[in-house]
Amino acid sequence: MTEPASTARDQAVEEPPGADTQLIEIEKEEPPSSTARSNRARFFGAVPEGSWNDWRWQFRNRINSIEDLARFVPLSPREKERLKLVAASYPMSITPHYLSLIAQDDPTDPLRKQAIPCFKEIGLAGMGEEDPLEERSHAPVPGLVHRYPDRVLMVLTNVCPMLCRHCTRKREWRHGWWVRTESEIEEMLAYIGRNGNIRDVIISGGDPLTLSTRRLEVVIRGLRQIKHVEVIRIGSRFPVVLPQRIDDELCSMLGKYGPIWLNTQFNHIREITPEAALACDRLLCNGVPVSNQSVLLKGINDTVEAQTRLCHGLLRIKVRPYYLYECDEVQGTEHLRTSVETGLMIMEGMRGHTSGLAIPTFVVDLPRNGGKVPLQPAYVLVEQEDHLVLRNYEGRIFHYRNPKPVNAPANGSRKVKKANGRPQQPASGGQYMLPIGA
Ligand code: SF4
Repeated sequence: MTEPASTARDQAVEEPPGADTQLIEIEKEEPPSSTARSNRARFFGAVPEGSWNDWRWQFRNRINSIEDLARFVPLSPREKERLKLVAASYPMSITPHYLSLIAQDDPTDPLRKQAIPCFKEIGLAGMGEEDPLEERSHAPVPGLVHRYPDRVLMVLTNVCPMLCRHCTRKREWRHGWWVRTESEIEEMLAYIGRNGNIRDVIISGGDPLTLSTRRLEVVIRGLRQIKHVEVIRIGSRFPVVLPQRIDDELCSMLGKYGPIWLNTQFNHIREITPEAALACDRLLCNGVPVSNQSVLLKGINDTVEAQTRLCHGLLRIKVRPYYLYECDEVQGTEHLRTSVETGLMIMEGMRGHTSGLAIPTFVVDLPRNGGKVPLQPAYVLVEQEDHLVLRNYEGRIFHYRNPKPVNAPANGSRKVKKANGRPQQPASGGQYMLPIGA
């Protein structure tokens, strides 16, 4: 570790957000941050600094009607009518913070596409499924999803500060808003307590940080009283869409119950604002590592350049790029989905061209209880008994001598596989790595 946590903490105290050199660099690189400043001045200029930085104010003042939206984004009468139809099926909610980041006059803006409804959400509603991951069928008690042996998902609420247009759980939005009651939470804790193989609990939603810090602490304290629960993970998009929520009260509460990991969802470099960077730094300084699980979205982050810039930006604020998800086949999201080949092309374009730390694992979450499958370009061209033929990131081909596994059968035979459906090539020598045809 070259920079102890205390140094980062001291800097945060000494330097107001925005004075940090890394953040200045981000602003220089990303002209749209000036969009944020001018939007804030134009639309929220009368809001005192204290209110703007108060997450409760941001939450109370979310934009959730199309009429309201039209005050900020130019919409023709026809567009307004169409968006009202969409919002009747899939409601809208945007925080003032996130709205201020959107380029108001650009319908192709990558942040706008994540926040503002699109007619295709209902126009293509015949495609996809409501609940492709069948989460409901794996709930032994209400709100608890138990799909894998050693971990469970606690869904505490369906409320989110922003309703992301690509959300896997958008089926929930039309049934009203709810937060699990105390007795439901006790039931979940009792189930986890009875099942000694559960060592990892993911607290999710909706967004669980919509609960007050006090209510959240009740849940986390309850989990910490269960001896076999080793790890607690929180899934939250607050650091991106309402970073003001990550305040000292929350961070010092989380700091008492570690190890706690927070997974968030930055999908575009412009979401990495000074406020978001400060939120992630606060979590880190209180012992909560932050990882990123982005979703591959058409026209938003589906290029090598967009993903590379996003992941470099994440590393600059000490957030680990963890997963890049293929967008689930959920009704109302088809217009934002792109092909698996696009994801593989992005992985191919990043691997070797930037550090491994900046490269997330590309995964498909399979429908019907198939679980996550990591995908990567084919680097193993041929797999034979004692050697492999591998391709590197430049397309150069190498033979690689492959030692026998420790538990190999006595006769030394090894299952030989065809790779990529291609016929196997004869092995050609090579004790270590021999470039051929480089
Ligand atoms: S924050 Fe997550 S759960 Fe909430 S709307 Fe966005 S993607 Fe869905």
